[in-house]
Amino acid sequence: MTRILVVEDEPMVAEVVERYLRRDGHEVTLAFDGRAACQEFERSLPDLVVLDLMLPGMDGLEVFRRLREASATPVIMLTARGNESDRLRGLDLGADDYVTKPFSPRELASRVRAVLRRSGASAPSTEKLNFDRLQIDASTRTVEVDGRLVMLTAREFDILYHLARHPSHVFGREQLLSSIWEHDFDGDASTVTVHVRRLRAKIELDPSRPAHIRTVWGVGYKFEP
Ligand code: CA
Repeated sequence: MTRILVVEDEPMVAEVVERYLRRDGHEVTLAFDGRAACQEFERSLPDLVVLDLMLPGMDGLEVFRRLREASATPVIMLTARGNESDRLRGLDLGADDYVTKPFSPRELASRVRAVLRRSGASAPSTEKLNFDRLQIDASTRTVEVDGRLVMLTAREFDILYHLARHPSHVFGREQLLSSIWEHDFDGDASTVTVHVRRLRAKIELDPSRPAHIRTVWGVGYKFEP
């Protein structure tokens, strides 16, 4: 069962969303303001967060920043119609998707399913990630590009899998180093750069203009599906 945290200060909206997500088989907790959202997030460690940006007190973008400091949990933002700048800032900060208010709860539920599918949270046992030209299988640690098996080193696979599990989420080089190299780390952040270059040469159509493993200047890398 997946756990979803819904952060929304309008009780009517929160309850409708809760009902639809429950119907889809998710376990749902509600938070009505930003502070409660952060506390609930730490307590329940949800698989996905539905986050309204217009909240009293601490606003949604601030909540989002705090969640992102702690984890890469997928976030779907609820934004007000016409509030383009908030939406863009949210996506820049690494939100996984957004839904504009007023929205149909059915549409939100289907976005939730899609984001969970992409993040792999809904099917932790299979660990297969499928993208257009690219298939990644964590159980066999194999990668196919256009149906052809590609040989990756262990590190290359780890980097690709780590990025691809969190589409569009930006990871710094130091962050990748500490989560992938763990204890036997003996290089510096440029090690990551070298591995990414090799990885691109193997999986990208045009490694000089990568479609999947994108550089975010001054920050690190992200995977674009
Ligand atoms: Ca609101």
